[in-house]
Amino acid sequence: MSVRVRFAPSPTGKLHVGSARTALFNWLFAKHHRGAFVLRIEDTDQKRSNPAFLQDIDASLAFLGIVADEGPIFQSQRAALYREHAERLLQAGQVVEREGAVVFPVAPQTVTFADLLHGDITVDTSLFESLVLMKSDGTPTYNFACVVDDALMRISHVIRGDDHIANTPKQVLLYRALGFPLPVFAHIPLIVGVDRARLSKRFGATSVDEYRQVGYLPEAFVNYLVLLGWSPGGNRELIAGQELIEAFDLAKVRKAAAQFDQRKLDWLNSQYLKRTPLPRLAALLAERLVAKGWLPADYDRTWLSRIAALLQDRLRVLEEIEEEHAFFFREPPDYEGEAVEKYLRGDGVAERLLELRERLSRLAAFDTPQIEAATRALVAERQLASKELIHPVRVAVTGREVSPPLFETMAILGKAKVLSRLEHAATALARRS
Ligand code: GLU
Repeated sequence: MSVRVRFAPSPTGKLHVGSARTALFNWLFAKHHRGAFVLRIEDTDQKRSNPAFLQDIDASLAFLGIVADEGPIFQSQRAALYREHAERLLQAGQVVEREGAVVFPVAPQTVTFADLLHGDITVDTSLFESLVLMKSDGTPTYNFACVVDDALMRISHVIRGDDHIANTPKQVLLYRALGFPLPVFAHIPLIVGVDRARLSKRFGATSVDEYRQVGYLPEAFVNYLVLLGWSPGGNRELIAGQELIEAFDLAKVRKAAAQFDQRKLDWLNSQYLKRTPLPRLAALLAERLVAKGWLPADYDRTWLSRIAALLQDRLRVLEEIEEEHAFFFREPPDYEGEAVEKYLRGDGVAERLLELRERLSRLAAFDTPQIEAATRALVAERQLASKELIHPVRVAVTGREVSPPLFETMAILGKAKVLSRLEHAATALARRS
């Protein structure tokens, strides 16, 4: 039997992290078995469906590298099919019409279906007396459209979230009534937040798009999502691309809810950032900075590569370039009030900064070794502790108490900016004695 799976989002919101993982597990399963991944858009509820969400789903799947083999297929364009199958059930006397709706009466019984992860699940149908298949406005209900489509699309495995377990026995009854063979079901566990509550909008980011904007790399995000409930075995954590496809095993997905762990995601992302070829990293950073208007479109590529190289091992997410490292691009930089208070207000600080400025202005080459030598020479001659000069210089040049290695940072900023910042700090920020 050839593997055919589907991902069936409703365009009623942005693509949520939980749905993204469902899509990913389906896609990995399909690729692993050289099968097909079908994208079906469940948009029968026209009032709640929105083209903007459709676009978000497309963009988010593309970001994750998930490409559909078939589709998108829109349920809103298949109304005639659902009517035809409802008619068939009507002819067979299996459903009744009630106030314009088509209703499937359910006799009390137990329904058992096999779930790839949970084993056999048995449900007593006295919980639901009847199922509405077609609403009085002529649109199908989710359960009916889902069964008709999964059957007609010859879906072999229905892989979806645990939150649909309650729907499956109803769908099993519909498969039987329609005379369709059952697919294999696999209900994958929900993702919960740190407090084990269902991941919801109240707890920070929930859509893939938000994570993309913060600056998670697609391969890191995919790696993280797949580890929510599955692991490649051993102590291995980093896995991507073809290797991930080969290793992925749906049957080994854990049954328990998976807890979303932001720190783990950050750690994984920093691992991928470290391994990103420098030109790609620089291009990713530039894209953000140009969009923000902090870099011209014809920015100096060599200069940006030096910044990317300096930050490569320090960034957890790309967004940090606009936060901790904005001082590379802003003139004057934003000065942290506390750092100014702590390091620039001391006696003699202004004089020391101006003296260093003077010495740096005379350097033949404004490179890391020369900047360092000039700074250390001043420290020695004035019999200072290094930190008495280095801390104020760091604040003067970067506006911050913590920065990447100072001399390298100064070399990259360049002579003109460093001199002007030292002067600004000495004359406008330090207390002059
Ligand atoms: N449109 C449903 C959802 O987004 C699909 C559920 C299913 O996969 O059957 O939850």
